[in-house]
Parts: sequence; structure tokens; C-alpha cells
Amino acid sequence: MSQDCLFCKIVNGDIPSDKVFEDDKVIAFKDINPQAPVHTLIIPRQHIATTNDLTIENSDLLGHMILTAEHIAAKNNLTEPGYRLVMNCNEQGGQTVYHIHLHILGGRQLRGLG
Ligand code: AMP
Ligand code: ZN
Repeated sequence: MSQDCLFCKIVNGDIPSDKVFEDDKVIAFKDINPQAPVHTLIIPRQHIATTNDLTIENSDLLGHMILTAEHIAAKNNLTEPGYRLVMNCNEQGGQTVYHIHLHILGGRQLRGLG
């Protein structure tokens, strides 16, 4: 838990979120500023600031985040049409919230990565 972290506050329930899934390791909720018809964020309950802070100890957690994304994609009928998973790192990667999160984007044709 990091005092000033927005997503830790969502984990704690101090800030509301539109939750779509949760278990003992992760929480998934709708992005407040969606870039596609489906735009969900999956975050670990544990505070990890960026992908640079990941270690081998986090391997299971990362696998769990991706499998959770697959599950949420299926629930949104995105399995066949497809979807995109994104994790941004630091300023040039476009990261704005420093608690790792996996974006699931889908429901429209996605193009470049710019
Ligand atoms: P990133 O730019 O990869 O760090 O992504 C951060 C994402 O968090 C952005 O897509 C924001 O729209 C989203 N976001 C920021 N605050 C909230 C919030 N309170 N609830 C849901 N999503 C949020
Ligand atoms: Zn945090």
C-alpha cells in the first residue's frame, strides 16, 4: 500500500470504481476515460509502481493478470473478434498512474500503437 497511490485507494475502497472482477490477487474495473467500447483495467492488490519494479517473485501474479484479462475479454464477447492488452511504463511509455495495470481494449477496430 502506497499512501498517495490512486489505485491503492481503489483497492482499499477509499475511491469508488466500476468493478467487473476481483479475487484475492487482482481487481478489475472500467477505465474512467474509455478509449474503446470495452476498456477495463486489471491491477494487482499489491502496490507495484512500474513494470521496472517487477521481479521473478511476481511471475505468477503477472500470469494471473493475463488470464484474468482473457476471462474478462470472453465475458465481453471479445474472444473471436480480438482485443488488445497494454501495460505502459514511465513517462515515455505513457504511464500516468504509478501502480501497474493491464489495459484491456476492445469492441472496435484498433490500429497503430503510436
Ligand atoms: P496509464 O496512462 O497507462 O497510466 O493508464 C491510467 C489509466 O487510468 C487511464 O486510462 C485513466 O483513464 C485511468 N484512470 C485514472 N483514474 C481512474 C479512476 N479513478 N478510475 C478508473 N480509471 C482511472
Ligand atoms: Zn498503489
